[in-house]
Amino acid sequence: MSTFLSNPLAPETKLGAALTRSRSQNGCELVNPPQTAEALAMIIITRPDATEEQIDHIVSRIHNWGLRAEVSRGEMRVVIGVIGPEDKIREKPLGAFPGVESVTPVLKPYKLVSYEFRGMPSKIKVGNVPVGGKEVVLMAGPCSVESEDQIIAIAQSIGKAGAKILRGGAFKPRTSPYSFQGLGKAGLQLLAEARRETGLPIITEVMDTKDLELVCEYADCLQVGARNMQNFSLLREVGRTRLPVMLKRGMAASIKDLLMSAEYILSEGNFNVLLCERGIRTFETMTRNTLDLNAVPVLKAETHLPVVVDPTHGIGIRAFVPAMALAAVAAGADSIMIEVHNAPELAKSDGEQCLLPGEFEDLVGRIRGVAEAIGREV
Ligand code: PEP
Ligand code: MN
Repeated sequence: MSTFLSNPLAPETKLGAALTRSRSQNGCELVNPPQTAEALAMIIITRPDATEEQIDHIVSRIHNWGLRAEVSRGEMRVVIGVIGPEDKIREKPLGAFPGVESVTPVLKPYKLVSYEFRGMPSKIKVGNVPVGGKEVVLMAGPCSVESEDQIIAIAQSIGKAGAKILRGGAFKPRTSPYSFQGLGKAGLQLLAEARRETGLPIITEVMDTKDLELVCEYADCLQVGARNMQNFSLLREVGRTRLPVMLKRGMAASIKDLLMSAEYILSEGNFNVLLCERGIRTFETMTRNTLDLNAVPVLKAETHLPVVVDPTHGIGIRAFVPAMALAAVAAGADSIMIEVHNAPELAKSDGEQCLLPGEFEDLVGRIRGVAEAIGREV
């Protein structure tokens, strides 16, 4: 009951042309932004016996009207999401097509992100790793890429232990301007080398629109960090690429805020979004953040997008990361992101919260046990 998402191609802008040239190999070209000002989303649920011809007819009529259609294919039926200006959609007789069972508007403020827009969970491919299916996908790596030896050694050990995606920061959002800020382009190149060595796709953070083109040349998935969750110009720009985006929840953001920020990305045409719970600020001082596992079942009910949990930043203390990783799997997370370092005492960022490779390997076995207990796999 899930679907891979595809976005329609559209004309290129000047920047789009440049991005298309540099990013075509990893799907990062810009797309034409849809009209978002008074956008409405309408859901057409087709009958279980609707034929392919009927569905094609509905979709081509929607396109002829100048509206967008997003088709989701479930096991039982096809759901067609219609997007466009409210006045234009409302005047169309969407319920009159043969094969249609019902037509309903999405009333939630987050329309494209809402579960009903798809009517089924979405699978998002990072490289060739699908996130959002039965498998709980493990992402791991150091907080910061520091050197060739460091990133290759860590990538090899996490890959061997069962991680499917390598995560490492080249552009680091640090609280202090005097802390290590990341290796920038050199860090991206080292990540690409680690991908060549291990075959693992890479996730890395983009902090600023000015770096987006560069990061897109290397990344399989863009991370938008907690501090940038409401950087709306960055959200719009990553929304105009084709790359998957892992959007981390802001430390003072509500679940609804997170969904609204994701809506910015989808509203620009990029449906390849992963939502990441990474802990919020509370009055608690014994842990770095408070990992809000409430968010997992709430997000799974409210949105079709896959949910990633980052217990590393969520609790911020190495000894307690495994317990929260297991709890996140039990709560229904589609993916778990863990920071791993082979020499934490030398780490240039977040050394106190990363697991050693051996600890990660041990945790993978325990995660597998929890996943299997709830009908999932690793
Ligand atoms: C990180 O993932 O290393 C990071 C800086 O995360 P966050 O944006 O959640 O603080
Ligand atoms: Mn970190």
